[in-house]
Amino acid sequence: MPFAIRIHRTGGPEVMCWEEIEVADPAPDEARVRHQAVGLNYIDIYHRNGLYPLQLPNGLGLEAAGVVEAVGAGVSDLRPGDRVAYAGGPVGAYSQLRCLPADRLLKLPDSIDAGTAAAMMLQGLTSAYLLRRTYRVQAGDVVLIHAAAGGVGLIACQWAKALGATVIGTVSTPAKAALATAHGCDHIIDYTHEDFPRRVREITAGEGVAVVYDGVGKDTFVGSLDSLRTCGMMVSFGNASGAVPPFDPLLLSQKGSLFLTRPTLMHYTAKRDDLMALGSELFEIVGSGKVNIEVHQTYPLAEVASAHRDLEARRHSGSTVLLP
Ligand code: NDP
Repeated sequence: MPFAIRIHRTGGPEVMCWEEIEVADPAPDEARVRHQAVGLNYIDIYHRNGLYPLQLPNGLGLEAAGVVEAVGAGVSDLRPGDRVAYAGGPVGAYSQLRCLPADRLLKLPDSIDAGTAAAMMLQGLTSAYLLRRTYRVQAGDVVLIHAAAGGVGLIACQWAKALGATVIGTVSTPAKAALATAHGCDHIIDYTHEDFPRRVREITAGEGVAVVYDGVGKDTFVGSLDSLRTCGMMVSFGNASGAVPPFDPLLLSQKGSLFLTRPTLMHYTAKRDDLMALGSELFEIVGSGKVNIEVHQTYPLAEVASAHRDLEARRHSGSTVLLP
């Protein structure tokens, strides 16, 4: 019988249990996938601690790569043996085997192994929609990317650089600064010690940046608004430091007729065509070598509690893979 991580209540890493599960034959339009590698993402922490509520008990995890074992009625474009990967709901990727809607799966190019796929699907598709859809980065733009040495950060910085942007990244340690510099950042700010909006003004000769990609949330929100040029775009896409508290929209006017959006990958990939298009862009840029995907941490899936502790304590850089 296969095993999976499940939660029966929300809370700290200790609420995650390694349990035997039953996996049925795939229903119509589903595929059964044997996972070879599972991705770790910050959103898994929000599901575990209840910031993003789930119906309980439930599985966890939104990203994995593996091999199709069986397909249900009506699935014509996948067959047993196909190598696939996915990023997004329904939750349950922290498992050895599962069924899920076949239209959520992307076939993997031969050049991308399962570990690399699990390291890049969710953070890479997120980078794709943030940089290519939410605010379309152009050559010559100056962009600010918070947590530049994180999972999304390392991919987004390389991609923004490849698009011709000048990239300013924030990090919390010298080691992360070196990593972000090696992955496309032109300027690094340690936002735990420096006044980052002031540094951004210095770097941009007073103008501010065209766009801020802010996955840190509470601690950086106002400073991010203060880093933008007139009519700049604030993309608030995560809450690693906590959720952004309510604020007065008048601030957007006072700080320069700013735009604010709070996007999620789910909406940008809800349609199969959109998922496939973003997936192609991701596979292409990784295939070109302009964006390198590296697995920085690996844990057995059964020991995912340690991975959550390390991620919450900011001990991680880049992407993390869980081995089922
Ligand atoms: P990361 O690998 O980037 O980990 C989070 C990073 O945030 C840390 O490494 C740390 O970097 C930084 N950070 C700043 N303050 C804190 C804090 N108080 N506690 C913990 N970390 C902090 O995670 P992911 O790449 O998985 O995700 C990045 C963000 O993007 C998350 O908020 C996630 O929810 C969001 N996200 C949103 C998506 C969407 O579609 N809306 C999709 C995917 C991710 P440092 O030490 O350098 O400060």
